[in-house]
Amino acid sequence: MAASNAMHLIVLPGDGIGPEITGATLAVLEAVSERFELGLRLEADMAGHDSLKAHGITVRPELLEKVRAADGLILGPMSTFDYTDESKGGINPSMHFRKNLDLFANVRPARTYPGVPHHAAQDFDLVVVRENTEGFYADRNMESGGSEILVTPDVCISLRRITRACCERIARSAFRLAMARRRHVSIVHKANVLKMGDGIFIEECRKVAAEFPEVAVDDYIIDAMCAHVVRAPGKFDVIVTTNMFGDILSDLTAELSGSLGLGGSVNAGARYAMAQAAHGSAPDIAGQDKANPFSLILSVAQLLDWHADRLGSTAYARASRAIEAAVAEAVAAGDSTADVGGRLGTAATGAGVAARVRSMTLPG
Ligand code: NAD
Repeated sequence: MAASNAMHLIVLPGDGIGPEITGATLAVLEAVSERFELGLRLEADMAGHDSLKAHGITVRPELLEKVRAADGLILGPMSTFDYTDESKGGINPSMHFRKNLDLFANVRPARTYPGVPHHAAQDFDLVVVRENTEGFYADRNMESGGSEILVTPDVCISLRRITRACCERIARSAFRLAMARRRHVSIVHKANVLKMGDGIFIEECRKVAAEFPEVAVDDYIIDAMCAHVVRAPGKFDVIVTTNMFGDILSDLTAELSGSLGLGGSVNAGARYAMAQAAHGSAPDIAGQDKANPFSLILSVAQLLDWHADRLGSTAYARASRAIEAAVAEAVAAGDSTADVGGRLGTAATGAGVAARVRSMTLPG
């Protein structure tokens, strides 16, 4: 029987490795829905290359309405580099949903796992909280048109938008998260060069920090931060930063943790959320049953947790923790793909996590 607070999600498998990792993720979702009696409603649709082929556009207008009628979506990775011209149907699906659903917080955890080879100097467990709706992303900043201006064929000006309101809300997300973790927020910026925009970002973060006196705060310039996370990632807890810096830094932290294939992420707003792996469509390994599905599986665990927070649902919170624990067990046992030292394919890795979710002793 479906619970009254059952989550309704649209599933868009995406391009490249997307269908493979989405298939593995759905196996886990089915297991968790049964075990915790979530009554999850999953509705498959298409976006990206399949949609471009079938409908002449990567995201049909009615798809956005369909997602708006649900609680959110699972978005597989998209070959966004291929989508160069919106007038020819090449909308970037990731941008489209982040912008139109106002998914302002891109939350990207990265951690090492016991027994799993990683590329870091020490064990760590941190979260990059990245602003998602403005910044250096030319496709997000304007009501109409992009914020890259081709002055002549050889001269381009790219504009970055920074608003106090967006800085304030992303800072608040970071500090709230820190309260549930180790109570430490690091502000990452480039205010030595982007004096006004990143000046506003730091000011708004510091204002919000004043409301959270229990949280320790420090700040780092983005370039130095890359050295700090390589040298001593264990000293970071929650890192808050603007859009482009967060995008880059979170690939670094995911890879340090063992593989980009471990990089989960949720894009969250007030009303909707979207699970989306931090990596791209990996065309170099598509169709080979090699892709690591943990990134999308962990993203879905974050999505369930977002729903749990929103509704105060214990079942969704427990389901989220069970997925994370099952992934940790699987990766430590080598029941994973080769990029993290395992011996399984994508589908078998997903089936392994699903089996663990069904049979494991539940964390408290
Ligand atoms: P990528 O992130 O797809 O791949 C980078 C490297 O990491 C590749 O060697 C790839 O094989 C590996 N990798 C990525 N995901 C993996 C996984 N789950 N398991 C194992 N290995 C994995 O970056 P790219 O190759 O530069 O980009 C490919 C396409 O993805 C481009 O069109 C790009 O625009 C797009 N992209 C989309 C998103 C998104 O949809 N959110 C994000 C980044 C890039």
